[in-house]
Amino acid sequence: MADGRFAPSPTGELHLGNLRTALVAWLFARSQRSRFLVRIEDLDDRVANRRYEEGQLADLAATGLTWDPPVVRQSERFDLYHDAIATLAAAGLTYECTCTRREIREAASASHGDAPEGAYPGTCLRLTAKERAERSASGRPAALRLRAQVESEVFVDRIHGPYDGLVDDVVLRRNDGVPAYNLAVVVDDAAQRIEEVVRGDDLLSSTPRQLHLADLLGLARPAHAHVPLVLGPDGERMAKRHGAVTLSDRRAAGDTPAQVLSALAASLGLVEPGELRTAAELVSRFDPTTLPTDPWLVDPGQL
Ligand code: GLU
Ligand code: ZN
Repeated sequence: MADGRFAPSPTGELHLGNLRTALVAWLFARSQRSRFLVRIEDLDDRVANRRYEEGQLADLAATGLTWDPPVVRQSERFDLYHDAIATLAAAGLTYECTCTRREIREAASASHGDAPEGAYPGTCLRLTAKERAERSASGRPAALRLRAQVESEVFVDRIHGPYDGLVDDVVLRRNDGVPAYNLAVVVDDAAQRIEEVVRGDDLLSSTPRQLHLADLLGLARPAHAHVPLVLGPDGERMAKRHGAVTLSDRRAAGDTPAQVLSALAASLGLVEPGELRTAAELVSRFDPTTLPTDPWLVDPGQL
C-alpha cells in the first residue's frame, strides 16, 4: 500500500502535462492497489475557481483516472494549517517577516553569495531594535517564517534519484494571513496518509523544505516521484499558446479522450503510438523504474 494523490491548483484547465502527471500518479497508486486521492489546492482565490475545479475533475474522469472520494479542498482546511503553524510557533521555530519582495531581492544580492541562491537571506532575524520598531510602526503586515534548523536536505526521488537541495526560512503564513503552499502540502499529505507524492518536477527543489517541515512537525516523510515536465516545440513549459493542449482543445480538434490517453501513455513507453488502451489496462504494464527522466517534448499540432 502506498496511497497517492493528484493535487491540482484550480487556476485553469488541465493541459497535457498536468494530465500526464495525473496518469503517472494514478498508475503508481493503482499498480500497488492503493488509494488515489484528489486534493484541490485552492489556497488562492478561493471561490472564483470552482468552475476550473469541476472541469479538472471531469477531465480526470473522462480519461479513466478514477479517484477515491472525497475530493478535499485546501480552502476548507485552514484550521489544520493554523494548528500546525501554532505548533511550530510554540516550539520557537517561527519569526515574523515584513520584507517586501524587492527587499528580499536586494538583500539577497547584497549578501554576495553568503546566502545560497534563491534562499531567504534572514533579514528579519537580524534587524536591530530600531529597525524592528520602524518596521512595525509602518504597519506593514507580517508574514510568518520558519526558523529552519538545517541548510539542506537530501532525499532519493523515485525518478530523479538522489537529490540534495536547499532549505531556507520558508514562509508558513503569508502576510495576508493565508497559510503558505509549502506548509499546507506537508500537513495535507500527512493528514491524508499519502505515502507517495507524485507531481511535476518543477517542484523538485521545494521538496527539501517540505521534508524539513515534516520532520519538525513530527510527520512521516512520504516518498517522492517528480515527473518530468512536458515542453512545447519551442522547449518552453507547455502552455495554452502551444495550441490544442487541453482535453477540450483536443476534443475540438477531433480527438477522443481515449486517443489523448494513448498519446500520454505512448510518451511513457506504455503503448505503441496510436495503440488504444484504457487506463486500467495500463496498470499491469506500469514499471516505475523505466519512467523517462527527460522532459517530454511535444508539438500539439502533431499529437
Ligand atoms: N498544486 C500543485 C500544482 O498544481 C501541486 C502540488 C503538489 O502536488 O504537491 O502544481
Ligand atoms: Zn523579512
